[in-house]
This record gives sequence, C-alpha cells and structure tokens, in this order.
Amino acid sequence: MGRLIVISNRVSVPSAAGAAGAQGGLAVALNSALREHGGIWFGWSGQETEEFTGHLDMQRNEGVTTATIDLEAQDVEEYYNGYANRTLWPLFHYRIDLTEYDRNFGEGYERVNERFADSVYPLIADDDLVWVHDYHLLPLGSILRRKGIKNRIGLFLHTPWPPTRLLASLPFHERLVASMLEYDVIGLQTTEWLESFLHYVQKEMGLTVNLDNSIDYQGRRVIARAFPIGIDYAEFSEAAKSDVAKEAHQRLRDSVRGRKILIGVDRLDYSKGLGERFESFSRFLSDHPDMAGKAVLLQIAPPSRGDVESYQQIREDLERKTGHINGAHANVDFVPIRYVNRGYPRAELAGFYRAANVGLVTPLRDGMNLVAKEYVAAQDPEDPGVLILSQFAGAATQLKDALLVNPHSVEHVAETISRALDMPLKERKRRHAALLASVKEMDVLHWLKQYVLALSGVEKGSGALKSDGGPSSADPELAAQEESATLGATEIAGSH
Ligand code: ADP
Repeated sequence: MGRLIVISNRVSVPSAAGAAGAQGGLAVALNSALREHGGIWFGWSGQETEEFTGHLDMQRNEGVTTATIDLEAQDVEEYYNGYANRTLWPLFHYRIDLTEYDRNFGEGYERVNERFADSVYPLIADDDLVWVHDYHLLPLGSILRRKGIKNRIGLFLHTPWPPTRLLASLPFHERLVASMLEYDVIGLQTTEWLESFLHYVQKEMGLTVNLDNSIDYQGRRVIARAFPIGIDYAEFSEAAKSDVAKEAHQRLRDSVRGRKILIGVDRLDYSKGLGERFESFSRFLSDHPDMAGKAVLLQIAPPSRGDVESYQQIREDLERKTGHINGAHANVDFVPIRYVNRGYPRAELAGFYRAANVGLVTPLRDGMNLVAKEYVAAQDPEDPGVLILSQFAGAATQLKDALLVNPHSVEHVAETISRALDMPLKERKRRHAALLASVKEMDVLHWLKQYVLALSGVEKGSGALKSDGGPSSADPELAAQEESATLGATEIAGSH
C-alpha cells in the first residue's frame, strides 16, 4: 500500500509529549495512521493572506508531515463562513430555515476547492491513497480527477446526509452530487445517511444501485458504505483514570454538595438542541418539586463559528434562556444551570463526565456524536451514570442501551431525566456494560482500518492518466522541504 494523503479543511498537528491529550480522537487516529503508512496531512492553515500564492508550509512533528496553505479573506468568507457553514452545514442538519443560498458562496467554494486541488496535486505520488474529509471539500475528488489523478480517492462525510427533498432545494445540487461520484469510496456515518444518499442518486440521477451498494457511473464503480466513527477508547479511558481527571471529578462533586449532576458537552451549535435541553431540564424541575435544589445541569459549550450570524443568535438565545430558567428555579445557595462557554483539556472533561449521574446528549440532528461515546468510556463500570441520547444522533443506531429520546419533546426528555436519576444500580450497570462493549469495539482505530481497507481494496481509480505521467514520488523540491521540515508548533485545530 502507498502512503496516505489526508485532506481536510483544517489540519491537526500532532502534539508534543507535554501537550498529550489536547487533541480529539479523530486527530490522534489520523496522526497514528499517517505515522504507520507514511504520508501527508494537507489543509488550510487557518491563516489569511493578502493574495493567495499556494505556498505550502510543510512541517514535520512527531513523525507526521503536514502541509498547509493560507487563504484570502474572501475565500474564508465565501467558502468557510459561507458555503460550508451557512449553506451545507444547516442544510445537512435539516435546517432549511437557516440555509443561505448565495451565488458568491458557491463560487468561493469551488474556487477554494480548486486551490486545494492545485496545491495538493504535486504532493500526490502514484500509489498514494487520497482520503478527503467532510462537507467543505465534496467536489475536491472530481477536480483532482480532472487534473489527471488516477489514484484511489475516498471521501468521508462526518455530517448527516439530508433527505432528497431537502437537498433538492440546493441550487446545482445535481452537479455537486455528480462530482462526488468521482470518488472510489464514499463513506457515511450510518446506514440512515447511506440510505438517504442512495435514494438521491436513484431518484434524482436515475442511477442503479447494485446489491453491494455500489453505483456504476460513467464507466466507473463507486462504493458507498457506512463507517460509523468511534472515539480513541484506549486514550480516553486512560485519560479518565489520570490524576487530572480524578482532581476534576472531585472538584465538581465537591462543588455541588451532594446534588445530582447532569452534564452536557457540545460545541455551541444550533444542531445540538441546547435550547430544547434547557427547557426539558426546567420542565423536569417544575414537574418534580421534590427535586428542587437537588439536581444541577452543567452545560459546557465552547463557542464556535462566531463569524456566522446564526451562531451569534443561538448564543444570545441560550444566555437569555439560562437567565430565565435560573431566575425561576434558583435559590440563595443553588443555581440549577451552570452554563460554561469554554473548552477543557480532555482529561479534565473525562473527570467531569465521570462525576455526572446523567449524560444529556440531545442533538436535533448529528452525524455521529462522539460526546455520547466519551461519556460512556469515562464512567466507573461499578457505579456508572446513565446516558440519555437523542434518537436523531448517528450514535443512536449503535448505542441502543442508552435511554433514547425525542429531543423536540420537552415532556419526554423531562420524564426520561427523572427515570435516569431513579434508575437502580443493577440496570445502570447492565446498560453501561452493553454500551461500553460497543464503544470499545467500534473505536476510531476500527473505523480507520475499515475505511483504509475499503479504499485500498478498490481497483485503482479509472480517471485519465496524469498529463505528465504523474510524479513517481512527490515533487523533489517539496520532498526536500518535507525532509528539512522543522519541529515547529502550529495551532491545533479540529476539522471544523
Ligand atoms: P461535533 O463534531 O459536531 O462538534 P462531536 O460530539 O462528534 O460533535 O465531537 C465533539 C468533540 O469536541 C468531542 O470529542 C468533545 O469532547 C469535544 N468537545 C466539545 N466541547 C468541548 C469542550 N468544552 N472542551 C473540550 N472538548 C470539547
């Protein structure tokens, strides 16, 4: 097998030993795959430049080579804040009411995808596996094909795939999906999103889906499959046992003075159902006067995508709602909702999860949701907390022993909170053991192996030959840069 070329919007540079645990499971897993197979992680640096030059900043950290480019302010506005986060993200999360259709966004999206392709092209050698991630880069594979790349190219989409009738509201939707059929493997999180995708290609494009879910399109065969992503179980359960986690656990428990704790941990995003969650908790308090002053909801929600108006809006809404609910239920020595807008190191987060009697994971729509899996991994198996999980999170298809809820129904969630807090130890242990087995087995390494196996197993892509025969190894000048890349510190960033 050749090297791995991972392409995502942002690149997560492996952390040095001192900062271990600062990265998410996906970044850790991709970095370990890059270390094993060799290769490069390519993406946007997160920096802006006056004029796009395509200059590659290549660095080598902890055995992994990263290559990043800077983008112009207009690129960031139209591609990242625009088409990716104001058009595709809301649409893919069924929020057609928040979806903005602006021709400039679409043009910026195509321009940046072209820029990505131009910049990464010289780095791709003949036998490399090219693995593109997420909704920011859906047409990238087709642009690489047009440039003559005949390598195996795969896509993994971390978000849901919307129902056909919603997707049909997107101008040029046919062109977007047709461009995706230039990949060899299209990976989705769950069979539900896979079915939606296959429904689209059948109904809107008139294509036939074979029994193995492959699609024949313009003389090529594309495999579409569900690959449910997991957490790095080994890393996270280790983090949960660390001194930092123990200290965080104790600090949180001491601070609530014997009260029950419910925890929510989410990026501040309208897809996470935070407003509905707060209202459900408020309803629970109103319906159970005996629990007044006896249960606390800790909601950790670091702001994200603050340049996008709908995110400013959700932030304001939640601040108002928190104030309102706290005003109604607080006492001189008790505030029911602790709403914290910051991030925490993973070990500390693990300690908070372990201290919580209930994990409240109630997105209105979510590709997978890793917080649900982290909550399970962090529990003490002898005295585990209860996971309340939205039926609309991808994770619900796997974590069937959670208490599954409809997050839109405030009454249902309120009743389920009560049920979770009253659940006998025996049932908590039984449910947790089943959840843990799934989280452990279907971890991020399993996901990664399955995907790489599927991609390396396909016949080499049938795109046209590279016009110059293709570099047999990466461009010599770039290879030299790669060799001499220094151990520099680059901002650690998720792909969002
Ligand atoms: P999404 O990818 O939509 O943000 P996921 O639940 O799949 O949702 O992944 C979120 C990741 O971000 C999890 O690994 C979670 O631990 C991490 N995270 C969320 N909030 C915080 C926080 N306040 N501090 C640290 N990590 C966080």
